[in-house]
Amino acid sequence: MPAAAPRAAYLLTAAMADNTQRACAIVAGDDMSTEWGGYDESVQRDILAALGEQTRIALTMLRDRLGVEIEMDWDSTARVVCSEALAAARELVRPDPGEWSLPECAHCREVIAKAMCSLQIQAYFRLGFTLVKIAPMCRQSADEPESARRS
Ligand SMILES: [Zn+2]
Repeated sequence: MPAAAPRAAYLLTAAMADNTQRACAIVAGDDMSTEWGGYDESVQRDILAALGEQTRIALTMLRDRLGVEIEMDWDSTARVVCSEALAAARELVRPDPGEWSLPECAHCREVIAKAMCSLQIQAYFRLGFTLVKIAPMCRQSADEPESARRS
């Protein structure tokens, strides 16, 4: 099993994929917020790092297989988080991330975590995975060490 943080990151994405399927739109469910809010700050930091890595894997697959580049919706993200959090999110999803600092506000940390989950789901969706398939795929990655590194 992958370490705790990567595992939690996959499970958050799976929870969002489940919710997306029910709501027919990429939105975070309440259950996801409860789960995220249950982690303390240092764990949230590790999960954000893991989500960044998993998002980069998905974006790289999309670029390599289909030549398609997608980005986070920076404008709408900027409307709901502070500039510190926006900078952290930009760094986390860059192909070659550098230093980033953990946003101080809990609200912003949660928003960027969910934004990365949603970006991953969009990437897998474009790669041809149906929503029904994405959640179990993430859960499988959470439980299998090999598939956690899909690069
Ligand atoms: Zn903030």
